[in-house]
Amino acid sequence: MRKKIIAGNWKMNKTVAESAQLATDLVAAVKGQPYAEAVDIVVCPTFLALDRVSGIIKGSPIKLGAQDAHWENQGAFTGKISVDMLKAAGVTYVILGHSEPRTLFGETDANVNKKTLKVLAEGLIPIVCVGETLAEREGNITEKVVSTQVKAAYQGVSAQDAAKTVIAYEPVWAIGTGRTASDEQAQAVHKFIRGLLSELYGSSVAEAVRIQYGGSMKAENASGLLKQPDVDGGLIGGASLKVDSFLGIIKAA
Ligand code: PEP
Repeated sequence: MRKKIIAGNWKMNKTVAESAQLATDLVAAVKGQPYAEAVDIVVCPTFLALDRVSGIIKGSPIKLGAQDAHWENQGAFTGKISVDMLKAAGVTYVILGHSEPRTLFGETDANVNKKTLKVLAEGLIPIVCVGETLAEREGNITEKVVSTQVKAAYQGVSAQDAAKTVIAYEPVWAIGTGRTASDEQAQAVHKFIRGLLSELYGSSVAEAVRIQYGGSMKAENASGLLKQPDVDGGLIGGASLKVDSFLGIIKAA
């Protein structure tokens, strides 16, 4: 049985004070709740708020995630944050290859691969995001696109490390649009990804990897998606910014 993982990607939202407030409210809401132990809960604030949020969630069932990382430890990389720094701030999970950096900031499959290797080498868990655009889905190349992204991200990753990773299947056309993949559409791609992992690493690794769905997941549509046999959680954007909506998804999981 794979433990479900619900991660909130706060993106470029909330000041440090607002992030601290949301984290405080979440900690209070899940305190003593058995469902909070049954699911892995992750929040991914901005880099600026990581340290503060880390202190607030300490001792609670909530884990800390970052929204990106660089593959070098330190040096002349203006604007970047290293995995070492994230580790020191108490980060466990790192989102990599999200469609926003891919489409808006030139993130490449090659860089996602370097970051994945580095995050794993430092003992953190990458959440590797993959997904097709609307044009790619309509052109019937969803599997080709997703397969290229997964194969590139996992180049050089050992089976032992691959088993620890999380993949987020996020159809680009569903992110922040209010348009969600149907339960069947999500399950079909998740099953495809698991089959691909099986080809790459064998069935025990494929069965261990958790595959989240992301794209306008909310409390109202979460249970249908999360009931699918290959959907092991959610990566949540908009609905993770308020306690009630995020909590609704956690409870559904
Ligand atoms: C995301 O950006 O990872 C995401 C899934 O966003 P939203 O839930 O807002 O569609």
